Amino acid sequence: MTRSVAIVGGGVAGLLTGHLLQRDGHRVTLLSGQRPDDLRNGPIISTQCVFGPRLRPERGAGLAFWDDTAPVIANGRLSIWLEEQCVLDWSDALLDSPAQSVDHRMKLATWMEALGAADGATVHHRTVDRSALDALAAEHDLVLVTTGRGGGLFRRNDELSQHTEPQRQIAAVYLRVPDGADDIDTVRWSIVPGAGELLVVPALTFTGPCHAVVVEALPGGPWDVWRDRPQAGELWKRIRELLRDVPREHEALAGTTLTDDRAALSGAITPVVRHPVAVLPSGRAVLGLGDAVVTNDPLTASGANSAVTAAAMHAAAITEHTGAFDAEWMQRTHDAWWTAPGGGRDSTAIANTLLNPPPQLLERLMNSANDHATLRKFTGIIETAEDPDWLLST
Ligand SMILES: Cc1cc2nc3c(=O)[nH]c(=O)nc-3n(C[C@H](O)[C@H](O)[C@H](O)COP(=O)(O)OP(=O)(O)OC[C@H]3O[C@@H](n4cnc5c(N)ncnc54)[C@H](O)[C@@H]3O)c2cc1C
Repeated sequence: MTRSVAIVGGGVAGLLTGHLLQRDGHRVTLLSGQRPDDLRNGPIISTQCVFGPRLRPERGAGLAFWDDTAPVIANGRLSIWLEEQCVLDWSDALLDSPAQSVDHRMKLATWMEALGAADGATVHHRTVDRSALDALAAEHDLVLVTTGRGGGLFRRNDELSQHTEPQRQIAAVYLRVPDGADDIDTVRWSIVPGAGELLVVPALTFTGPCHAVVVEALPGGPWDVWRDRPQAGELWKRIRELLRDVPREHEALAGTTLTDDRAALSGAITPVVRHPVAVLPSGRAVLGLGDAVVTNDPLTASGANSAVTAAAMHAAAITEHTGAFDAEWMQRTHDAWWTAPGGGRDSTAIANTLLNPPPQLLERLMNSANDHATLRKFTGIIETAEDPDWLLST
């Protein structure tokens, strides 16, 4: 049964859902505030590491354009550093299946162009306000809102939201791969208790392979040094200084440079869970997904991974459904994703637990240097977003 679906927002949630629906024969209209070239010429958006199992939907939709060129992230490395000493270093964390990170500036721009060129799909480049949303709801069988973490259309779910303020000050840079680097297949995660966390993700950008680096600074801690939102070069200079707390990363990265002058971002995100259904003044309902509904801190690389799962589950539910897309169906569809293993609830629990890790968890990891089963379990939880309760068990 062919349905007419409008999607507002051209991030990973909106574009992947749009492609999956188009593939299933629906009529798709996607409205994006950004054009492909706005994305290409804009600043970096994410470090967008997508774990192996979550790459399936984009491969199924024929959107895996970078499988031959993006670094194959087959390994994980987990380290804990105290006073510049490495107290845990586990480099044997084979991922179940390789992960991939393709600069969202390239990936989303290409996906947007591909959707615009596909039969039965149209892409409009304009920002949709609330009255335009109501008009869209009148004209389509269903409206999906995937506008990312800004915007106040969806009400905060106080019961499910743990935080009212950011838990980290975040900075990210894309760095050229230093000459001779041999671990472009490894995602590296360093924890510095009292300061924050550092993630180094092998990625593909316009200039080729790079290291996408995220620094998660504890508010008020020694790494909390970019609240003035410095320009790219200055941000990288400050990050380079604090890499001294993780000597191995300082040695690996300090001599390199930004991939381009837009390869930096800084900011802070308040993790929040929102109600997924919004009722418009006309009484019509719209359904949200992606960051528009569940926003987590990037510490556990969960946002794009969650959005992919939501896109796949929502697209399948739309194709299966033969009745009206009313508010009750919308809530049920969201709930199926929220409660699925590795769905929204699990991702959110994992992100929130690791933002404020219980002392026994760090102790357990530090005592597990020779206990590969424990360390493998830990990295497996990040990879699959399943079994958050393990993190709290002793
Ligand atoms: C530093 C950093 C690192 C990250 N690293 C990872 C990682 O390694 N792995 C991972 O899984 N996740 C990561 N994330 C999170 C991930 O990037 C996001 O969760 C994900 O991209 C959200 O996708 P989305 O489609 O929901 O929203 P967005 O990507 O925000 O897309 C929303 C789109 O909607 C458009 N829009 C907004 N309002 C309107 C409107 N009114 N009308 C029309 N268009 C509109 C916007 O222009 C935008 O293009 C990271 C995030 C950050 C900040």
